[in-house]
Amino acid sequence: MTKTGSLLTHLKCAACGKLHSADQRRTVCEDENCRAILSAQYDFHSNTLTKEELRSRPATMWRYREFLPVLDAENIVTLGEGFTPILPLSRAEKTSGNERVFYKDESLNPTCSFKARGLSTAVSKAKELGVRETAIPTAGNAGGALAAYSARAGIKAHVYMPKLTPDAFKTETALFGAELREVDGNISDCGRLVNAEAAKRGWFDVSTLKEPYRLEGKKTMGYEIAEQFGWNVPDVILYPTGGGTGIIGIWKAFGELEQLGWIGAKRPRMVAVQSASCDGIHLAFQNGKTSSEFKDAGFTVANGLRVPKPYADKAILQVLCESGGNSVSVNDAEILAALREIAALEGSLWSPEGAALWHAFKVLSRSKWIADNETVLLLNTGSGYKYLENLFSEKT
Ligand SMILES: *Cc1c(COP(=O)(O)O)cnc(C)c1O
Ligand SMILES: [Zn+2]
Repeated sequence: MTKTGSLLTHLKCAACGKLHSADQRRTVCEDENCRAILSAQYDFHSNTLTKEELRSRPATMWRYREFLPVLDAENIVTLGEGFTPILPLSRAEKTSGNERVFYKDESLNPTCSFKARGLSTAVSKAKELGVRETAIPTAGNAGGALAAYSARAGIKAHVYMPKLTPDAFKTETALFGAELREVDGNISDCGRLVNAEAAKRGWFDVSTLKEPYRLEGKKTMGYEIAEQFGWNVPDVILYPTGGGTGIIGIWKAFGELEQLGWIGAKRPRMVAVQSASCDGIHLAFQNGKTSSEFKDAGFTVANGLRVPKPYADKAILQVLCESGGNSVSVNDAEILAALREIAALEGSLWSPEGAALWHAFKVLSRSKWIADNETVLLLNTGSGYKYLENLFSEKT
């Protein structure tokens, strides 16, 4: 065994606070009446890694391995994910009054989305805990990423994806050797099937936030944002919110970095951007609710955002509240216009999910919720190349 130096201690229920050991397979809080998400905890007081030492480490998310859950370095399943660039929106921003707008390009990850981060940690930890078969309900990118990391680990993956998902997602999943099931329905329908099949066949279910370690990979976006901004944080972060691991993970990272003494108490205002087709979080937030209602109006070009009711809705809403954040709902026409504008002005083909942020930024900037002198970061979570069939079809 080659130790990673991970400071992982245990898992803690985000709702009732019950502690769970981290040395066996876990899903959600084991309290029958709770079943909330589990959050990995670390012994930050024992940390000896310095920011200076960090600088010489490889440019992948595993540079933060002390704060990730894998104990034996031989179990790390990596394709080089993380440490994606942060670039200025140099031409697009001039169409607004604000010239401090940046984007982090998560499309440069393996399998072309930020989902690589979460599935790298989840598959690594599953390997460490002896898992042989995994299963996932997915809107597209998570399935491709699970299939890729499972292939690399020698683990069998079962991927349940809505029929309406663009072909690129299905093709990559099959090429990586996973079993692909196309489901006539949305991700919630896929989730129900996975739940039943996994229980029957002993597969390990890595559904969003019902598995504790995907969140750990996603939080590395927060570590990177702070490091890349010189151990500072932007004033506002916009995130396309589906299941919520991205926004919850980034928020968790900032709390951990403060415990490490690497950043101060300043936090960005976090903005959840949703597709008008599935904007339950937006509706709940605007109405001052602490949980969301099921909402699914059907096809959206931003398939990653077609999550009718996120399992972690309460945790997402809590991040928006605590950060003094906001929410915006964007329809498909607005998403496609934003995607085309960014492509033509910046030479970058964003995912529709990421492009929704550009529209949302303009809305919040016009209303002065974002001031012209504030530093703003948009997370382009995926690549437009996987959606090409929908960018020029009669569907849109
Ligand atoms: C999954 C996905 C999202 C939604 O992310 P969550 O962390 O589940 O909220 C956003 N964009 C893309 C491209 C995705 O694949
Ligand atoms: Zn609990």
